[in-house]
Amino acid sequence: MTEFTLSKRYEFDSIEKELYNWWEEQGFFRPRMVEGQEPYVISMPPPNVTGELHLGHAITIAIEDMMIRHSRMKGVPTLWVPGSDHAGIATQLQVEQHILRTEELTREEVGREEFVERTWEWKKKYGGIITNQLRRLGASCDWERERFTMDEGLSRAVREAFVRLYEKGLIYRGDYLVNWSPGLKTAVSNLEVEYFEEEAKLYYFKYPVANSDEFIPVATTRPETILGDTAVAVHPDDDRFRHLIGETCLVPILNRPIPVIEDSYVDLEFGTGALKITPGHDPADYEIGERHGLEIINVLNPDATMNANAGPYVGLDRYQCRDRMWRDMKAEGLTIRTEPYIMQVPRSQRGGEIIEPMISTQWFVKMKPLAEPALEAVRQGKIQIIPERFTSVYYNWLENIRDWCISRQLWWGHQIPAWHCGDCGEIMVMREDPDRCAHCGSENIERDPDVLDTWFSSGLWPFSTLGWPDETEDMKTFYPTTMMETGYDILFFWVARMIMFGLEFTDKVPFHYVYLHGLVRAEGRRKMSKSLGNVIDPVDLMDEYGTDALRFTLLTGSTPGNDMSLNMTRLEANRNFANKLWNATRLIINSIERAPAQSEQDLAPTLPDRWILARLAQLNRDVNRLIDTYQYGEAGRQIHEFFWSEFADWYLEIAKLQMNEGGSRAWDTAQVLVIVLDTCLRFLHPFIPYVTETLWGHLKTTCNRHPAKYGPENEWGEALIAAKWPEPSPEQEQENQDITDFNLIMDLIRSIRNLRTEKDVEPGYLIIAMIQAGRRKPIIESMCTAIAALAYLDPEKLVIEETLESKPVDAIPLVVGPLEVYFPLSGMLDVEEEIRRINKELEEVNSQIQRLNDLLAGPFASRAPAEVVAKEQDKLASLEETAKKLEDQLTELS
Ligand SMILES: [Zn+2]
Repeated sequence: MTEFTLSKRYEFDSIEKELYNWWEEQGFFRPRMVEGQEPYVISMPPPNVTGELHLGHAITIAIEDMMIRHSRMKGVPTLWVPGSDHAGIATQLQVEQHILRTEELTREEVGREEFVERTWEWKKKYGGIITNQLRRLGASCDWERERFTMDEGLSRAVREAFVRLYEKGLIYRGDYLVNWSPGLKTAVSNLEVEYFEEEAKLYYFKYPVANSDEFIPVATTRPETILGDTAVAVHPDDDRFRHLIGETCLVPILNRPIPVIEDSYVDLEFGTGALKITPGHDPADYEIGERHGLEIINVLNPDATMNANAGPYVGLDRYQCRDRMWRDMKAEGLTIRTEPYIMQVPRSQRGGEIIEPMISTQWFVKMKPLAEPALEAVRQGKIQIIPERFTSVYYNWLENIRDWCISRQLWWGHQIPAWHCGDCGEIMVMREDPDRCAHCGSENIERDPDVLDTWFSSGLWPFSTLGWPDETEDMKTFYPTTMMETGYDILFFWVARMIMFGLEFTDKVPFHYVYLHGLVRAEGRRKMSKSLGNVIDPVDLMDEYGTDALRFTLLTGSTPGNDMSLNMTRLEANRNFANKLWNATRLIINSIERAPAQSEQDLAPTLPDRWILARLAQLNRDVNRLIDTYQYGEAGRQIHEFFWSEFADWYLEIAKLQMNEGGSRAWDTAQVLVIVLDTCLRFLHPFIPYVTETLWGHLKTTCNRHPAKYGPENEWGEALIAAKWPEPSPEQEQENQDITDFNLIMDLIRSIRNLRTEKDVEPGYLIIAMIQAGRRKPIIESMCTAIAALAYLDPEKLVIEETLESKPVDAIPLVVGPLEVYFPLSGMLDVEEEIRRINKELEEVNSQIQRLNDLLAGPFASRAPAEVVAKEQDKLASLEETAKKLEDQLTELS
């Protein structure tokens, strides 16, 4: 253990980095194998390689590191595999924008090979940022096993997976309506599309019926897509249009004939009640087209300009085309009107441009055959999803799964291992790069330019990182992994795909548990977004409050599957908690240093000793139960509550008194302090690793230096990170009695403190109390020193009896459970001050009495009206009564 110096305050910034490096150098992050024991393994969700830390990472790392540290302390061989994702589209966009900004070159101008090279350089330069930030969060993962989705081994795994699926007939090429990003010129996944409510226009126009004067009114938000229409659809029950079903309409401007079809998908109430069908540019139309076998016409180029199918508009930008076409239709009398319309506009998550649904040739994975075993695995309980309610969401998605479009028209990523023959047109999918066509022998072959969707490689993550497809030692030892922990928002995109791929390629579930955490939101539960300007950078929070405060806030503020909002007050409170731990430990270390070298005699433990150990035993059972049932937040809250409100607020105060007794009592007390503090630090370590490791190091050093060699219940480990996790012990009969007894003492002290406040008693002024304790007399008596000290009672005058012979008069009574406490009024006050005050009052009263006596003895008594004289006599009598009371009070006080 390195030597730490225990400064007056917890200076987290000077401690965190040094401590992390020490853990890593000592090899604590490596799994320590134990013969015959199942290891505990987590694959870290790989962050984007050139990304920067956000709160989503922070909560992921905090939860996983807690799981990992807990498992490690339980003595289980524990492995946490870190790594990063090449994040195709995100990284490519960063590099593209950088080159455009600095060199005014597009990626096409740079060229593919050069561009990919530049992206690798970019990765080398910025790839370390995120991993350093993960270190700062305290992530105790095994960096010697760090992987990257495009490193050599993982690239081989990706290629093997693709070839195997292709050979099994589970990968095919096909035309498909994809989300097309015109700026990036690639298909993007649903995950990368966000929908925004925006103002748009609804265009009403006439669809002319061929050889007739009739027309069908139709509305659209995108008139340029009329050019790609291949049908007009009406509802079979719609009387307005029923007679036109089977007729032909003419596409405006192009005069291309298309059929009028019936489909009950059409909403009679919406718009005009008739729909134009554009299977090439609308997902719903695409499905209607499939049902009716309609032709698919694409009118857009990859950059969203109009292609040759757009007739006279070829080459125009789609918005230009929209205006031009509407003008031309107006001229032909085909327009009806336009009206404002609020619509859901799909925009790219990267860059924000409008996404166009577009038909293109893509590579697909057939999902149904993969989904079946993945459903079975969860149904049979081979994988347990936490919280349980996500299980039905999982079933629902997999039961309705559609084929997965895995090709992306990007350059940064795993290029698809397929070659097209320019002569015979065949496609080859190969493990090794071919130099000629396997079908016709032609050397005129070209590699497919597309790369794979990033989720394809991350779907292999739990086993590709362990060496698959080779049967490596790591695969044998650590696969299947134990826990997959991630945000619920990527249950489908990632978790479900890992399960499908795991079962397909390794015949095993890739993990046994899925723990889904919620999203971190800004205060007021609002989503954090750059446009709202409410994004909180976790690095700033660590700078200001320390890593432990951030971790504890994230861990105790969340429950599985539920979103949490980040609250600055709680961050501050949790920084204070770290300081509380620090100060309490300083006090305890000081007590240990003062404790005698040995115990002279065996003393029975005091009630507070028995109470705090009983509460610790209860806490131990609760914490273990909560952690075993994944209620980590509640476990953290209970440890916090115990440490602060019971151990620090009560036991430490009483321990000071017991230490002051010296001798064996002090010796025993130091031992209790060591046990409780040590256990709390062990419990807290997975939550707040830095402050606990630091304090524990000091505690251990202090104890070892002391001749008494104080020790914890478990032996000291080499470091807290590797120390034994406290295991629960069965409940003892005496526990509850000790807790009940001490609760009564706390209630008593609390009630007296409240009374003092109520009566405005000077702080620190010792008051007199008489306690009728009934059969609790022995307990109260045994605690009289502590009660007197903590409630500021005069210990000399404290009376504790089973039954008070006569209840004091002029006393305030207080009932605390079975106890009756009396506070003689005189005892609530500073007596001398009170005597002075009463004397002064008495003087005043006496002088008034004197004056009235003089008056009534004089001529006034005979001259004044009788009733006036009587009034003065009454006044005198009342004053004399007051004087008597004051005199009595004086007698009582003296
Ligand atoms: Zn060929």
